[in-house]
Amino acid sequence: MLNQLNISQLTAKLARREVSVREATQACLDRIARVDGAIHAFISYDAADALAQADAADRELSQGGRTAKSLLGVPIAVKDVLAVKNQPLNCASKILGNFISPYDATVIEKLKAAGAIVFGRLNMDEFAMGSSTENSAFGLTRNPWDTTRIPGGSSGGSAAAVAADECIASLGSDTGGSIRQPAALCGCVGLKPTYGRVSRYGLVAFASSLDQIGPFTKDVRDAATLLGVLSGVDPRDSTSVPQPVPDYAAALTGDIKGLKLGLPKEYLIGGLDPEVKAAVDAAVKKFTELGAEIVEISLPHTDYAVATYYIIATAEASANLARFDGIRYGARVDGADPIELYARTRGAGFGPEVKRRIILGTYVLSSGYHDAYYLQAQKVRTLIRNDFLQAFAKVDAIVTPTTPTAAFKAGEKSGDPLQMYLSDIFTISCNLAGISGLSLPCGFTKNPKLPIGLQLLGQPFGEASLLKIAHAYEQATPWHKEKAAL
Ligand code: GLN
Repeated sequence: MLNQLNISQLTAKLARREVSVREATQACLDRIARVDGAIHAFISYDAADALAQADAADRELSQGGRTAKSLLGVPIAVKDVLAVKNQPLNCASKILGNFISPYDATVIEKLKAAGAIVFGRLNMDEFAMGSSTENSAFGLTRNPWDTTRIPGGSSGGSAAAVAADECIASLGSDTGGSIRQPAALCGCVGLKPTYGRVSRYGLVAFASSLDQIGPFTKDVRDAATLLGVLSGVDPRDSTSVPQPVPDYAAALTGDIKGLKLGLPKEYLIGGLDPEVKAAVDAAVKKFTELGAEIVEISLPHTDYAVATYYIIATAEASANLARFDGIRYGARVDGADPIELYARTRGAGFGPEVKRRIILGTYVLSSGYHDAYYLQAQKVRTLIRNDFLQAFAKVDAIVTPTTPTAAFKAGEKSGDPLQMYLSDIFTISCNLAGISGLSLPCGFTKNPKLPIGLQLLGQPFGEASLLKIAHAYEQATPWHKEKAAL
């Protein structure tokens, strides 16, 4: 079935003209029609538009366009936080009403320029705040491996759609783990690039100093392909960095002999599920068999990461979300005066978690508390970054579990924000430090069978070595070949 293919397989078939883009796109649409009632990865999609793009790609292929465009004819779905011209943009919130994006995000321009079929709005936690996709105004997304469980979040729709073969690959965003955590819980590859690697222009901001856009794919090679397309400096995002974009696929040599991998002692904590620990231990053993050297390292400020993140991320969110006021965009609830209009619009438009974050963020920035919370958190953030930079003086990459447990049940943590926040304990530091991170499958729990993710953390702009290490491991293990039975 064409929807089950990955990017390299599909582009090879298209190049040989064995299949058409229309057939591949239709296969994804058929799959959505069959399984998305149970998964709900998509908030919406425009089948006619996807097929029109497919026909245009088929015309280009028949004129020999394949060589120039690396994603020509590949159906890629998009998290509802990225602007796609003439498509709805809701951030899984009610507050944007019937907003239609007037322009393309830079990453979308790049996907389109590479020939991808860009389609669908993937479900997420409202404004990317959450770890389970339960905070969506459009209803929850379910894990394809067990539909009583959550897919992770906030990019739960992006992970579930790839795991359920409803698209070939997808895009998500990661502020504190929102690509890597759902990738781990759904059994796909998720990559959070270094801060500044990928332009954020057209990504609705949650916490601007932490947000990055990245790919969800079915294997590591596809992640390398997509990262190559997405990366690069952009004059419309002043935080994007003018670092040359390497040929990421060229890094996938399979040879990791002599590379040093760090195991942070602080990450083997009490709450770590025994099956997750066993899978990570086995992965570490596999790395030694492949010729890598394992080095114990210390990231001494790890304990402060979650608290630091929830001060900085909420502070930035409270400022970023001020623009949703009923005047500029989307939904409006009228009031007797502007203040009442703002209050009513924001009261009705934002869900409870978003309100909690805005209130927390406003508090930590308020006069009298700013220095005690926000300023202090910024200092701790520097210590966390320094921990990583010191570790990278000794090792090429760091190996950790992506999450402390496999996918939990829907409803299990939604009443307890602190428990939910703790599910990002291994992913958050990477964003605070601004470094690169990747999650890939490293096994399954037994009963029920649920994917387990391995996280690799790399130097700033060290994506090529992360991909090399991940690829070598993937090729030596069977996990990425398994599919959820749906
Ligand atoms: N789960 C974290 C949060 O709720 C991270 C979310 C994200 O990366 N967008 O903030």
